[in-house]
Amino acid sequence: MGRSGIVLAIVLIGCVFATSVAKKRSNKLETVIGIDLGTRYSCVGVYKNDHVEIIANDQGNRITPSWVAFTDSERLIGEAAKNQAAVNAERTVFDVKRLIGRKFEYEEVQRYMKLVPYKIVNQDGKPYIQVKIKDGETKVFSPEEISAMILTKMKETAEAFLGKKVKDAVVIVPTYFNDAQKQATKDAAAIAGLNVARISSEPMAAAIAYDLDKGGERNILVFDLGGGSFDVSIMTVDNGFFEVIATNEDAHLGGEDFDQKIMEYFIKLIKNKHGKDISKDNKALEKLRREAERAKRALSSQDQVHVQIESLFDNVDFSEPLTRAQFEELNNDLFEKTMGHVKKAMEDAGLEKHQIDEIVLVGEGTRIPKVQQLLKDYFDGKEPNKGVNPDEAVAFGAAVQGGILSGEVGGESETDDLCGTCCDALKALETYVNDMKKQVNDKDKLSDKLE
Ligand code: ADP
Ligand code: MG
Repeated sequence: MGRSGIVLAIVLIGCVFATSVAKKRSNKLETVIGIDLGTRYSCVGVYKNDHVEIIANDQGNRITPSWVAFTDSERLIGEAAKNQAAVNAERTVFDVKRLIGRKFEYEEVQRYMKLVPYKIVNQDGKPYIQVKIKDGETKVFSPEEISAMILTKMKETAEAFLGKKVKDAVVIVPTYFNDAQKQATKDAAAIAGLNVARISSEPMAAAIAYDLDKGGERNILVFDLGGGSFDVSIMTVDNGFFEVIATNEDAHLGGEDFDQKIMEYFIKLIKNKHGKDISKDNKALEKLRREAERAKRALSSQDQVHVQIESLFDNVDFSEPLTRAQFEELNNDLFEKTMGHVKKAMEDAGLEKHQIDEIVLVGEGTRIPKVQQLLKDYFDGKEPNKGVNPDEAVAFGAAVQGGILSGEVGGESETDDLCGTCCDALKALETYVNDMKKQVNDKDKLSDKLE
């Protein structure tokens, strides 16, 4: 083929690429919802009419417990599942995010199996959840199937709001998720009838939610204290490029540990006051756990609460006060632990405290005043950014990414992380054309030599 032939080939192939890119551009996805599939709570949002809408579920709540329960007559998801946990513990499933994409033999799974009231069995080397469903029938579910039930609930929440069916979603996973965990999450979405248009990480979504990509290169610290895990990420953001430079986490440090401390305190108190040990009484424990969580939440905004549980044991009504100071004292070690992880991440990032431009709070555990105070003290009085609700930040960022993919967010983004397939295709085209140019050059040189 002569030189003109090669040039023609470039043009032709270029056209094919350009057409496919153009097709991709015009073939924009329809509405793409954003889902934060949390260990304890999930949240869904959508970008609509130039803003993010965090969508309330049928109970009017903007976050939905990631819980599924089976009763003799039905399957419950969300609040309905969580609210009956005390009376149906063995058939109430939660925290499957800890199991998804993991092998049965994995140490964490083995450890976790002993902690949850529901049964986990080995099926093909994977942890499956075994429960009694309707009519006494026993069934096993994969973690993907349980996650799919939660995703279905989030999808339906969005559909009720939008008044139409939804097919695509941006789903957010933790930074520590490996390929198997990501794939299993995608499989869960597929079971729920959702195509995962993009899988993104929690700190990335939070940084996007806070719209921190402005004014040159900036360092951001994302502090995420959830129900069962804690992680801190340090990232740099520069003109659309988000780069995680250090992370540190504790997969077993979160709100439920604070609840546990309150429970231990009351169990001891009951022992001393009533001479009764309720530590083996599952029903009493579940009731206490529920009230302990409620007390913890209240103590984020009040100085004192009164924990009251009707007939907690032996028909004894339980009623005790708990102050914020007591709560802080019970959990001080755990709060300090989070700061240890922050320190470690800062060391790994090689940054000085003053080099952090923004501190972002994610996860409802960050509502605890003492946690905020410790973080503020560590950063010499710097206030965390409080623009977005910490429990909604991840879904908010997911919804923005969904909006970009569906074209709802104004114009095309130039950035790597945000524009996805279009940019990838353009980049591929650019690389290809450069390659071809080089080949033409080489060929020219070769023909020069031959002549
Ligand atoms: P995850 O991402 O792990 O699913 P979330 O970020 O939703 O979890 O955080 C859930 C945790 O935050 C729970 O332990 C819950 O009890 C706790 N929590 C919720 N609200 C508050 C509050 N106001 N103060 C303190 N902790 C809270
Ligand atoms: Mg979370």
